[in-house]
This record gives sequence, structure tokens and C-alpha cells, in this order.
Amino acid sequence: MNDKLLLENYLKMLRLPTFLREYAQVARQCGEKGEHHEDFLLQLAEREAAAREQNAIDRRLKEAGFPSNKELSTFDFTAVPKLNKKRILDLGRCEFIAKRENLVLLGPPGTGKSHLAVALGREACRRGKSVKFFTAAGLATRYTEARAEREVQKLEAHIRKRDLIVIDELGYVPLGQGSAESLFNFFSQCYERTSLAITTNLPFSEWPQIFGDERLTGALIDRLTHRVHIVEIPGESYRLKDSLKSQEGGEAAK
Ligand code: ADP
Ligand code: MG
Repeated sequence: MNDKLLLENYLKMLRLPTFLREYAQVARQCGEKGEHHEDFLLQLAEREAAAREQNAIDRRLKEAGFPSNKELSTFDFTAVPKLNKKRILDLGRCEFIAKRENLVLLGPPGTGKSHLAVALGREACRRGKSVKFFTAAGLATRYTEARAEREVQKLEAHIRKRDLIVIDELGYVPLGQGSAESLFNFFSQCYERTSLAITTNLPFSEWPQIFGDERLTGALIDRLTHRVHIVEIPGESYRLKDSLKSQEGGEAAK
């Protein structure tokens, strides 16, 4: 076997795909610039490490199952002047996840709660956190399915492994008794282990309506809010404002 083939075999065996793909080009460049062998090796190692990091981020983003790719960078903070931008950007540093703290985004429909929850979740993926997105109804369904398959323990083991779980749209539909029980179990699984980011249109005082049991809801809120950041998003629907604005623009253009 010639040297080139031998080298490429070793690089495959050692699982260094970026070395394999780029060594010839980097070698040529280093040769032209008269750089040392150490520089050549350093450059290749840097590229391999960067590619691995990017792959890991892509894998975490995929596993999280976000319904959109909304980002903090595309959130228009000027549209919600009462929202503390610095506070949101601080949450984007994800220290609350390391501290196992929770986040509740509370506000009327259309105010950007899901946008922010997804954006913060994506940020967490980039920072090495394992994240999973559910709607409240979707999570309840997952429990129902898992129960039918006798796989609740497996589902809960998955849940416990995550650093952050996003629960979107809690409160939009009241949960039936089975679903409410599932979510109680879910909240106990996460307590002091997994951070939660919850979006809801209902203040805590109205949560008993969602779960249908005053006492259990009280216990749940107690745990959730043991360590919590509550972000209230005031105001009207962004979608509505946005479409009114474009209509005004249309009028003005006439
Ligand atoms: P909610 O979850 O509070 O009902 P969404 O996050 O789904 O609201 O927002 C509705 C739509 O408006 C989404 O497409 C979202 O990206 C957009 N949106 C809401 N608020 C903003 C904002 N401040 N800047 C940019 N887009 C926004
Ligand atoms: Mg939403």
C-alpha cells in the first residue's frame, strides 16, 4: 500500500474526517508559506475540533425538536419596550440552567413567548446543553403513549437526562385528568434536576383551571417557583401589530 493510502486508512480508523478531508490542502498551504510541521498539525487539529463542536451543536439542535428556528437576534426588542432586554440576553447565557433554575414566560397570545422560549433553547444547545421541546399537550400525549406501551420509565429516563425542557403553551387547553396527572409526574421528575422553560398565557392564580386540582397545583407551583425567573411580556399581539403596521404602510404608500 502506498503512503497516501496508508495515511488515509489511519485517519479513517482514528475517526479524523476533517484531517482526512483537508490534510492535503493544509499541507500545500503550509508548504507555500514555509510554516513548521507543528503549525500544520495545529491547523488541522483546530479544524477537526471545530467541526466536531459544530456537529455536536447540530445534533443537539436536531434532538431538541424545536418547531421553528427563531433566534434572540431576530427578536425585535423595540416592539416590547417594557421587556427588559438585558435580562433576556442574560438568560441567554444559560447560567440559570447550570443552577437548575426555571423560567416562566407569561403573557397574552402573540407576544413572542414561543419565539423567546425557542431562541433561549437554541442558545442552550449551542452552549453544550441538552434540550427538549414539547408543547404541554404534546407532552401529555407522549405520556399517554408511553403508558400504553409500558414505557413511562423510559420516557422519564430521557427527560431526566436533559438539562432544559421547554414546555410551550401551558394553559391554552385545560388538561383532562390523565394528562394533568402525567404533567404532575413530569414536574416531579424535573424538580431540582432539569430546568424548565414554560410559556403560558395564565398567571399562577389561574393554573388550577389547567390542572383541575387546587391542592396538587399548589404543590406543583411551589416546586416550580422554588427557583424561578418570571418574565412577563405585556402588551398586544406582535402579529396583530405587525399586520396593522404593514396595512398603515400600504395606506401611506397610496
Ligand atoms: P406567543 O407564543 O406569545 O403566542 P409567538 O412567539 O408565537 O407568540 O409570536 C407570534 C409571531 O410573532 C411569531 O412569528 C414570532 O416570531 C413573532 N414575534 C412576536 N414578538 C416578536 C418580536 N418582539 N420580534 C420579532 N418577532 C416577534
Ligand atoms: Mg406560543
